[in-house]
Amino acid sequence: MFHVKQSEDSDTTVVNHLGDSPIARELADLTARRKVLDETTVTLSGNTRVITVSNQKGGVGKTTTTVNIAAALASVGARVLVIDMDPQGNASTALSIPHSAGVTSIYDVLINEVPLAEIIQPSPESDLLMCAPSTIHLAGAEIELVSQVAREHRLRTALEDYLDNTDDRPDFVIIDCPPSLGLLTINAFTAAHEVMIPIQTEYYALEGLSQLLGNVGMIQKHLNPRLHVSTIILTMYDGRTRLAQQVAEEVRTHFTAQVLQTVIPRSVRVSEAPSFGQTVIAYDGQSAGAIAYREAAVEIIQRDAAKEGVA
Ligand code: ATP
Ligand code: MG
Repeated sequence: MFHVKQSEDSDTTVVNHLGDSPIARELADLTARRKVLDETTVTLSGNTRVITVSNQKGGVGKTTTTVNIAAALASVGARVLVIDMDPQGNASTALSIPHSAGVTSIYDVLINEVPLAEIIQPSPESDLLMCAPSTIHLAGAEIELVSQVAREHRLRTALEDYLDNTDDRPDFVIIDCPPSLGLLTINAFTAAHEVMIPIQTEYYALEGLSQLLGNVGMIQKHLNPRLHVSTIILTMYDGRTRLAQQVAEEVRTHFTAQVLQTVIPRSVRVSEAPSFGQTVIAYDGQSAGAIAYREAAVEIIQRDAAKEGVA
């Protein structure tokens, strides 16, 4: 018997015998992985891990990874604060957080010393998920910060003040960075313990990486000794192409300890979720992209990240 089936992650219509088709194998694989996830329990350390998601290359999946890892962590019981440090405000949008120009935002924290607690908003997606939104004003902060006192430490001071005084201390703070190595990213590096680098599995994947690692090293030396690259996550992976496999192998060879086992597949569900103001975990929790981000979140909890830095 033959079935016509629309592939979840491509527009290709696959006509095949379902019993032994690639689609059937993919579905069986997803079901098995979902079962493992449903049976997995995680133990949270009780400490707050501050992770900045950074890569000066644009469009590699920083924001997508920030919001989906955050939602996946919340789905296993972690309390998570997302800090949107990108003037584009894409993380705020994906978490359905109002961030029009009139909203008090991370800009006011950095420039006007408004307490972080005053700008944090709950995400409608989960009681455990919160967001400090960015607004378009943040675009000017890169310049305005230049003349400020302790310009590299503004986010760190605000975050430490928040963590010291809140009753709802998050298990994770995840900071979404803009695609640049300017003062906003430096503030994120100074505030964080860990750097997570999303790498898109495509031809120029490693371009700019040595510059990024060099910057992390400089920050570690001069501003924040505890900073280290704990996690590298391969994104937008298309296993059908030889190129994606080669890039993944190359990254794993260079950064064996940092690269997550889980790779995030290229998936239409992942890319369309933000237009509904949702993460893929809420939008289609059974899809390949959601399962992968849930697996990645479990890995992030389970790995002893502190011992695995490269920078
Ligand atoms: P920027 O540098 O502009 O901040 P970014 O690094 O934050 O970009 P994203 O905005 O997360 O990158 O992703 C870039 C584009 O790729 C978006 O349109 C997003 O929907 C899409 N995308 C990200 N991850 C995936 C995926 N796994 N499958 C399909 N599309 C994806
Ligand atoms: Mg982004």
